[in-house]
Amino acid sequence: MCGIVGYVGKSRAVPMLLQGLHKLEYRGYDSAGVALPEGGGIEVIKTSGRIDDLEKKVKHYGELSACCGIGHTRWATHGAPSDLNAHPHLSQGGKVAIVHNGIIENYMELREMLRGAGYRITTQTDTEVVAHLFEMNYHGDAVRAMVETVKYLRGSYALAVLSADEPGQIVCTRRDNPLIVGVGEGENMIASDIPAILAVTKNYIVIADGEVVRVDAGGVTVYNSLGETVEKEINTVTWDVSAAEKGGYEHFMIKEIMEQPKAVRDTVQPRIKDGMPALDDCGLSDALFENVRNIHITCCGSALHAGLVGKVVREKLARIPVIAQVASEFRYCDPIIGPDDLCIVISQSGTTADTLAALREAKARGARTVAVVNVVASDAAREADGVLYTWAGPEIAVATTKAYSAQLAAMYLIAVRAGLARGTLSEEAARRCCAEIAALPELIERTLACREDMQYLASLYSNRQSIFFLGRGIDYAAAQEASLKLKEISYIHSEAYAGGELKHGTISLIEDGTLVVALCCDPALLEKSVSNIKSVKARGAKVIMVTSVASFQPDPEICDHLIRIPACAAELSASLSNIPMQLFAYYVGVHRGCDVDKPRNLAKSVTVE
Ligand code: GLU
Repeated sequence: MCGIVGYVGKSRAVPMLLQGLHKLEYRGYDSAGVALPEGGGIEVIKTSGRIDDLEKKVKHYGELSACCGIGHTRWATHGAPSDLNAHPHLSQGGKVAIVHNGIIENYMELREMLRGAGYRITTQTDTEVVAHLFEMNYHGDAVRAMVETVKYLRGSYALAVLSADEPGQIVCTRRDNPLIVGVGEGENMIASDIPAILAVTKNYIVIADGEVVRVDAGGVTVYNSLGETVEKEINTVTWDVSAAEKGGYEHFMIKEIMEQPKAVRDTVQPRIKDGMPALDDCGLSDALFENVRNIHITCCGSALHAGLVGKVVREKLARIPVIAQVASEFRYCDPIIGPDDLCIVISQSGTTADTLAALREAKARGARTVAVVNVVASDAAREADGVLYTWAGPEIAVATTKAYSAQLAAMYLIAVRAGLARGTLSEEAARRCCAEIAALPELIERTLACREDMQYLASLYSNRQSIFFLGRGIDYAAAQEASLKLKEISYIHSEAYAGGELKHGTISLIEDGTLVVALCCDPALLEKSVSNIKSVKARGAKVIMVTSVASFQPDPEICDHLIRIPACAAELSASLSNIPMQLFAYYVGVHRGCDVDKPRNLAKSVTVE
């Protein structure tokens, strides 16, 4: 998740670290800090908030002359974004400072082990244990200590360490989190991403998973996990800085679309234990599901669409009535909700004003509340009785893609657990559903292969005034998100219709050449959907059809373009049909010259009513 920098060389480290951290700001963060070897020990300066706040704090420290240091921007995953939890973290002896991006999954076990060895844990982070472990394994050689330390760790990490006893060097490593080393002349940098090193050099080494690197002013040495040196190729940056921030993609939106397999994997993996959804510690116990009267889902925008998918899946698998409602309506409609009900709110930021108000309303009426949010310790996370985090990482593009996909995954996990608790799903069926959910990242990856097809279709249809999306059941829920994505990004008027509803009025808008996108992923409803499509085709519509039903061979007469996505359970299909729709919206927006990352009039987190 967020950012790591390190500098060692001929200049004072502080300005180099701060400029590097600024270059990583695009990744999103909630706190920042630096550590420097000073006077035989290590000085740590850190704060929650912005890098500007860190800069102000640094000024109070007067002359910091060290030419070596590490810095961090944190996106909290364990523990609130506070000064205490901000990185760098010091080991108990104060001789080791550590910065970390990612998640140490077994940190609870490690805490116990360290407590037994006499260490005091002082923060809520998963990272702190790494500082103590490193100290425990340090016997004068930081590379060796790192090789030993990572043997204890499960999870994902990029780590950089400063040791007071070897003050002119940084040692770093990574697993499933980005880290590069910038190779300069008499000065070197490490960073999570290229923009942060460009002040020093355009030459860099990509660190592979498990490799450990020693960086000092004179050079860079890379070791494998056994501690043996390895030769690395030096690459040269050819992109400009803004392209580099986007990892070579033209926009954050497409980068985030492509990151969806990871977002879903990171959300699902920690929540499946022994092949079953494990949600007890999110405030979603089996007893709650057994006794609940109704589930209310209240949220806004795309989160509401995730809720609508959740409604269909939960009603089907758990047979609990689910009322999915716009949060701004819920709060003023004197909702019929009470102590027997569960209210789930969904919000990427956890600060959406309407959603928070709905959450408070539900609580005031005695309902149990659970927040599905992407930002740790955000308002919704703190105020709800339970929280189920999505782990999409920071989302920069205003129009959500990966956070929405992670929300869908959370909806499925809840539905399966609820079905199991209520006995509407057998253990065997629940296990099968769980395996299918766990396989989604791989299927999403395969679905992303339709990128070029969607780019082509976008080039054909980006001049339309109005576009319609059709679907039934789960496809209708998915169609609503597809339509929203298109209109927010491309400013083309669009509407989503339940297939059977079109004939009750909207069909009068269909004329020669009107584009209709039909989502057809539920085999049980295919025939009905085909009839609806025939009726728009008969009125001159152009039709793009998206299907996950491998055996479905639509009549070429009714379908101008067919997009096949991998076969999957109908209940999960919204996670796949969503991909071509996001890509279509993105490329239509690009074609029309729209600012796809920052669409007009829209804000990323809507904190007003
Ligand atoms: N898991 C760590 C924490 O919560 C690091 C988060 C990050 O990647 O910034 O402090």
